[in-house]
Amino acid sequence: MYFTTTDCDKCGKCWEACPTDCIKHPDGIPFSCTTCGVCASNCPTDAIKKNKFGGYYVDRSRCTLCGLCVKHCPFDFAKFVEDSVRGRHIKGICVRCGICVKVCPKNARIDALSLIKGPVDYHVLMEIAVPEKIKELVEGKPVAVKAEAEK
Ligand code: SF4
Ligand code: SF4
Ligand code: SF4
Repeated sequence: MYFTTTDCDKCGKCWEACPTDCIKHPDGIPFSCTTCGVCASNCPTDAIKKNKFGGYYVDRSRCTLCGLCVKHCPFDFAKFVEDSVRGRHIKGICVRCGICVKVCPKNARIDALSLIKGPVDYHVLMEIAVPEKIKELVEGKPVAVKAEAEK
């Protein structure tokens, strides 16, 4: 999962460069597919596969366009798109290519998986996914989350 820090100046280079169109930008702040895998686990034909980088891709030979990934994505990223080359297909799922990190002139895109060690709880990640908390994480400060406080 890639996060955005407060260094972001909302230039738009990351979402323009993202090959999978998986970056939303409410209020100009980029927010990308979490790679939580819910779409993959709900696919009845096992068409959504994890790649070696921890991202996901759609095997179009297995995809029946049933739309269950779109229906079950908790963050509304997986979507149907259509073009003249590929016809109707699924897009919006992050492959973890890292292009958004490379093109950011402010170094404001951060790979959360490089900062958080051990098994990733995506509910915790979602709590952290605000630019101010990400900034603290990058600076090595402990970041309090509700999920931890309740333990
Ligand atoms: S490329 Fe960097 S500065 Fe520009 S919108 Fe994306 S995260 Fe923000
Ligand atoms: S598209 Fe949605 S369900 Fe699939 S990995 Fe991304 S955030 Fe999770
Ligand atoms: S890692 Fe790649 S696919 Fe994922 S948000 Fe960044 S540019 Fe898009």
